[in-house]
Amino acid sequence: MPLTPAELRSVVEHYPRRPTVAAVGSHSALDIADGAATEGLPTLVLAQRGREATYARYFRTIRGRAGERARGCVDEVWTYPAFADLAAPAEQERLRARGAVLVPNRAFSSYVPLEVIEERFRVPIFGSRAMLRIEERTERENYYTLLERAGVPSPRRLDGPEAIDRLAIVKLPHASRRLERGFFTVASPKEFREKSAQLIAQGTILASDLATARIEEYVLGPVFNFNFFFSPLVPRADGLELLGVDERRESDLDGLVRLPAEQQLALPEAARLPRYTVVGHGTLTVRESILEEVLALAERFVDASRERYPPGIVGPFCLQTCLDKDGRPTVFDVAVRIGGGTNVHLGVGHPYGNALWRSPMSTGRRIAVEIAHAAHAGRLAEVVT
Ligand code: AMP
Repeated sequence: MPLTPAELRSVVEHYPRRPTVAAVGSHSALDIADGAATEGLPTLVLAQRGREATYARYFRTIRGRAGERARGCVDEVWTYPAFADLAAPAEQERLRARGAVLVPNRAFSSYVPLEVIEERFRVPIFGSRAMLRIEERTERENYYTLLERAGVPSPRRLDGPEAIDRLAIVKLPHASRRLERGFFTVASPKEFREKSAQLIAQGTILASDLATARIEEYVLGPVFNFNFFFSPLVPRADGLELLGVDERRESDLDGLVRLPAEQQLALPEAARLPRYTVVGHGTLTVRESILEEVLALAERFVDASRERYPPGIVGPFCLQTCLDKDGRPTVFDVAVRIGGGTNVHLGVGHPYGNALWRSPMSTGRRIAVEIAHAAHAGRLAEVVT
């Protein structure tokens, strides 16, 4: 049975004034822990055994004589045989007893099954638990349907391989590394047939995934990941904030585009297909005249989320956007939680977040400010689900 609002309220009623900020140890856990440490909240990372060194050793908190954090930002690390074990009933009880608010990142929603998060995970989650599922492209209602509802431009869906009449991208998971992508681009039905057959033969994609793959128009232009924050604790008109913009480094796509065309063509066939494995991020700003339109899209996205999935977006979210030749934004993916690239402003803030808050404001810190404020004001139940 899902956590009811009444049960949630009774759990957080007993939470301390300074709740523990917890995150699954991967993705953006460092940003989350750093931000919480800056705001003086206890931090906890939930890691898979064998993958804890970043948190348990290199960024662990070392305290000075007066008990202050002299170095690092991860106060505690709890390890599990597998990430999904953090949802075992006894572990949930331990998290609640610690007064933990879990900040969901993509590692959490990838490694803990969504059914468990929705039906059986009884620990308060910062932000919208019910929306995590819409990130799955294979769901009938997903982020594309919400973008459409919000009137936010997204890449045109092509109705099957025979409808490919322009450069298109085919979106499906990788055959063996299921959390990675097996995306490929094609420009005609013939190219689709040839390329997909080749990729199946190479073991890169599965025929069964191809049947449900989304085929959409390829938007030519640079990618900007807009990292927003929405606060339900202030009047609606003040709720939306742009904190920062990042871009991804994708392997081996970025390696391929740094080769001259002749050397690209000299590569063996299989090596010419770029992978879209995210391996890092860089920071960006955007031409100022484009900002207003992007903010308007984000406002509409927030409104649509509040209408369709009450309470809607709470806290961080990310619109992954291509800007076309006229600078018009098209949103091709959405994160309804902290984005994967917010470590770009970890510790130092981002030009936009800093301009807004008059001090270094990363996404991690903004989350902690919201949790601390809500807890202090007795409004924690309004920012967790
Ligand atoms: P995603 O899995 O949606 O985050 O997409 C992975 C990468 O594929 C992005 O970082 C983009 O480089 C690229 N991509 C996805 N959809 C499109 C699109 N419709 N047009 C152009 N590039 C896209």
